[in-house]
Amino acid sequence: TINDDIFLIRMYHINNKKVLHFQDITLFEIYKQAKKDFVSNVSHELKTPIAVMKGIVETLEQEEDVQTIRKFLNMAKKRIDQMDSLINDLLILAKLESKEEKLNITKADLSRIVNSIFNDLEHLSKEKNIKLINDIPEGFLIDVDQKKFDILLKNLIENAIKYNKPEGSVTVSAERKDGEILINVTDTGIGIPKESQPLIFERFYRVDKSRSRNVGGTGLGLSIVKHIAEAHNGKVEVKSEPNVGSTFTVRIPERRDG
Ligand code: ADP
Repeated sequence: TINDDIFLIRMYHINNKKVLHFQDITLFEIYKQAKKDFVSNVSHELKTPIAVMKGIVETLEQEEDVQTIRKFLNMAKKRIDQMDSLINDLLILAKLESKEEKLNITKADLSRIVNSIFNDLEHLSKEKNIKLINDIPEGFLIDVDQKKFDILLKNLIENAIKYNKPEGSVTVSAERKDGEILINVTDTGIGIPKESQPLIFERFYRVDKSRSRNVGGTGLGLSIVKHIAEAHNGKVEVKSEPNVGSTFTVRIPERRDG
């Protein structure tokens, strides 16, 4: 190891001379480690709900009271939903990473997409009386892969609701600037500490593990967002202040060829 880089050294004999061959395998090692971490993270994420379900089933075997049985079945359902979301997110990530799927770019009305996501998430926002504000003018057209962009925005808006305070608000706005389209999702929630901000786009990173699991997160949402933004040659950025709120901004180039 030299300066944190890892080298594989091979020795050859060529024309009676010894030749040392150094190969930098740092990236390969990092990749191997990341893969190991990923598998162990996924296993851990599945182990917890399975352990809980096992406990529930064992309790149900002895239980006769219908009310209690219902309560436990409800708990089991929550865990099944949790595993279902995790598998869904893993499949989305796997597809995005394999890059086998090309983007299917069409013109989309951003305001309509946002309204339809607001509709889908109404049950969640009502739980905490959170106001959903769509600040995008009608007819704001963007060239995107609609299915993927839907997933991206849904993840950001869902987080903005989940990590919000009761009676808070979520605002989605957009603007064109210097050949780019900027889409902002702003919340009045718990915010993200500065030191965590660069890490939240990593797979399975959570600022507060127990809170995130309570609100039903898989820990994969923001890495999916990042992948989809990058697939559109764009990026995603965050500005946040603890206890005040966060703004996630997706920037994608304005396409002129479609
Ligand atoms: P999760 O499924 O846990 O929500 P994400 O990848 O979507 O996973 O987000 C990673 C972490 O970033 C979350 O666990 C949470 O701690 C933090 N986070 C994401 N969005 C917000 C937000 N709008 N406000 C505060 N924290 C957030």
